[in-house]
Amino acid sequence: MYCIASEITTMKIFSNFDGGNINVVKADSPEDIQLTIPNDNQSEYYQWFHFRLETQAQEEHTVKLLNLAKSAYPEGWQGYDVVASYDRDEWFRIPAEFDGDTLTFRFFPEQGSMYFAYFAPYTYDRHQDLLHQAQVNFNCQLETLGSTLDNNDMSLLTIGEPADDKKKVWVIARQHPGETMAEWFIEGLLQRLLDETDTVGRALLDKAVFYIVPNMNPDGGIRGHLRTNAAGVNLNREWQTPSMEKSPEVFLVRERMLETGIDMFLDIHGDEAIPYNFVAGSEGIPSYDERHANLENKFKQALHTITPEFQDEYGYDKDKPGKANLTVCSNWVAEQFKCLSYTVEMPFKDHNAQPDALYGWSPERSLAFGHDMLAATLAVIDDV
Ligand SMILES: [Zn+2]
Repeated sequence: MYCIASEITTMKIFSNFDGGNINVVKADSPEDIQLTIPNDNQSEYYQWFHFRLETQAQEEHTVKLLNLAKSAYPEGWQGYDVVASYDRDEWFRIPAEFDGDTLTFRFFPEQGSMYFAYFAPYTYDRHQDLLHQAQVNFNCQLETLGSTLDNNDMSLLTIGEPADDKKKVWVIARQHPGETMAEWFIEGLLQRLLDETDTVGRALLDKAVFYIVPNMNPDGGIRGHLRTNAAGVNLNREWQTPSMEKSPEVFLVRERMLETGIDMFLDIHGDEAIPYNFVAGSEGIPSYDERHANLENKFKQALHTITPEFQDEYGYDKDKPGKANLTVCSNWVAEQFKCLSYTVEMPFKDHNAQPDALYGWSPERSLAFGHDMLAATLAVIDDV
């Protein structure tokens, strides 16, 4: 979208691609590149950035991302290191400093072209690969529930033979499209569920049918949004009264949920500020009771046992009894279906219990966390 070529250097910045998002304020010298992040369409939110820099390799560059005090999560930039790649496969971290409004980072490019993003992107093309690599497996159906406002597909994978005596497990991801770690997580969960040599998946499919929506917000993902769909709507506040005009993504998925029923639910997200993996439960819903609390504890204990990538000390404040916001998906599901229902949060920064200075939280660790979450699901499947 932006192409700046001065006479002094040949620096160019591009964002006219799937998930691209940046605004160039100044880019006439490598020591002083100034950028801002455009808002999600028809929205006050901005935080997701993704661009390509073409420039002189082996020369020092300084980039300043400006105006972040008014971004969706200013605290998200504190302790955040920028994600970058030369080959669009390995995404490493570049240390950054935040002064409350500007994020500054310095680097010497090893190559003449370099990508930068808020987190490792998960493209619409890779999303289609994921769906179609899944559908060739035995017992996996790919179905289009309908279309989004930008006319993209709302896709559902059904895995396992639906039967009345089987548990119904729903997993959805990327209501907030910039939280790309959520779809990396789904890729891991699907790998394990569909791996015929892995008995965790086989044992689960003996007992349960999985309904998986890997990308709840394809429009936002393609547009380079952090938090909203094409019409600027935060889908995770639409679950009580969705509409085909404003939030078809939620309307279509919710209709199918009401048809199938739900015994267990996971809604996969990323958190901008908190440098840990954690889950948020349904303690504030009107019907919350001892059974529900016991299920939540059993699931969390299983996760603790399975992986050090989970902890339960840092996370969101718990809702007071009866005070849950029922427009939020996991609360709406928990109340509607009286079932175990968690929002799962992974960090944009790192899981500080197991930090990694070179990569931070990464696609690979998101995939592994998806594997582990499936094992924890097996630990509770007889009880849900
Ligand atoms: Zn989210």
